[in-house]
Amino acid sequence: MTSKHSNERADVFVGGRWRPGAAGEFDVLDPATGAIVSRVSDGTEADGVAAVDAAVAAFPGWATTAPRERSELLRRTFELMLRDREQLAALISAENGKALADARGEVTYAAEFFRWFAEEAVRTGGDFGPAPAGGTRTVVTHKPVGVAALVTPWNFPAAMATRKLAPALAAGCTTVLKPASETPLTTLAITRLLVEAGLPDGVVNVVPTKRSSSLVSAWLADPRVRKISFTGSTEVGRVLLKQAADRVVNTSMELGGNAPFVITADADLDVAVEAAMLAKFRGGGQACTAANRFYVHEDVAGAFTDRFGAEVEKLSVGAAVEGHEIGPLISARAVEEVSSLVDRAVLAGATITHQASVPEGRGFYFAPTVLTNVAPDAEIIRSEIFGPVAPLVTWADEAHLLRMVNDTEMGLAAYVVAGELGRAMRLAERIDAGMVGINRGLVSDPSAPFGGMKQSGLGREGARAGLEEFLETQYFTIDWR
Ligand code: NAD
Repeated sequence: MTSKHSNERADVFVGGRWRPGAAGEFDVLDPATGAIVSRVSDGTEADGVAAVDAAVAAFPGWATTAPRERSELLRRTFELMLRDREQLAALISAENGKALADARGEVTYAAEFFRWFAEEAVRTGGDFGPAPAGGTRTVVTHKPVGVAALVTPWNFPAAMATRKLAPALAAGCTTVLKPASETPLTTLAITRLLVEAGLPDGVVNVVPTKRSSSLVSAWLADPRVRKISFTGSTEVGRVLLKQAADRVVNTSMELGGNAPFVITADADLDVAVEAAMLAKFRGGGQACTAANRFYVHEDVAGAFTDRFGAEVEKLSVGAAVEGHEIGPLISARAVEEVSSLVDRAVLAGATITHQASVPEGRGFYFAPTVLTNVAPDAEIIRSEIFGPVAPLVTWADEAHLLRMVNDTEMGLAAYVVAGELGRAMRLAERIDAGMVGINRGLVSDPSAPFGGMKQSGLGREGARAGLEEFLETQYFTIDWR
């Protein structure tokens, strides 16, 4: 958006007004070409303070707005997102690079958080009952945590924002939001839809910036900010948790993953291949839930590798605007990181059995790749690849399989494909991951509590649990004699 009085961009949204960033502007690139998609206002700490001022001013009004009214704002935003689905999908593809089909799926998924939390907003609930000793009654109720800082990654520019905004607003919190500097445009577009839906001034404030560290540190040091909800890498999450500790800020952390994908001897290989393609290649492998390491039973390893590899070779990789199935990675640096990880895996003895082809020339591409002969403790198995590479390990013994699967500090998603459901469930229960896809390659659903164990995070998003992250519990004890 350009400001009224000049050609200067005005993308910092504070107190219901769009303004330029105090630090000028920064470029947003199209990963498919490396070309500039747009320039965006660069917010500073001063913009961040103004955002908190506005959120603090709006809080008493929003916290006491009738739940039904908050619900209706969310519901209208859900409908507006669906109305603008194509434009939003094109914007996601332009700044993130993902294929249009993936981007459309993301818009629907992202919009669903507004619908789900529109329904939850009117059910914050409570409790009332006698204390066991008699003589008193207890009333349990909930109130919004307060001003919430929301920090989102680039890999799902729409869904990561709505998964936080919708429950925060449903709970009655006001918010200051910092989108990833690679992908601020989608968040800005969703903010405009919230405004169109009737968002009161100051309830949502957005500060795009290249100075993430200083902006977020300032928010965490500000005694008026009571909550941080962060999605991103475990590395940055750890830094923010340390900062949050100083003021004991309420935290929700959705961090990195390293999802195992297990295929048993009795698995239906059609199901296994379909689920593996989805779990591995959605968003070009740049999902925290992406299958990161495949454990294939030795009896079906040959057949699975051939069939999966044939599908991988068929993937059409290229720009979203040209209708390809897989886009580029987010940056030149991401390509370097994934390709050096693969090079080191090959040096350590892995074999590239299948690879798709990528466009020549511009753009940040890495070819979808299948690797076999990978050692169970190889670097590529232990690292979050965040790219379209599938390392395959074979297994024979279930106890050994479970040791390999759980031998990680991460515990976000996992996948099990097995013929017999009971067997799949028994295996799934023994995997230390917050979410397990059984005979399917997708775990995300707004009505389910998304989140991880171990260093994959703290707290849950979506479901009833997602609302609770933005609520405090309070009880009253009443003399009842
Ligand atoms: P990242 O941690 O680099 O960045 C996430 C956000 O934090 C961005 O907005 C970024 O600008 C900001 N940031 C970066 N450094 C910061 C600092 N020092 N202080 C404050 N803010 C800072 O992560 P990314 O590269 O954008 O995203 C990829 C990572 O996110 C992967 O590890 C992936 O698994 C994880 N992720 C997790 C989930 C989940 O729900 N668990 C979902 C999507 C992505």
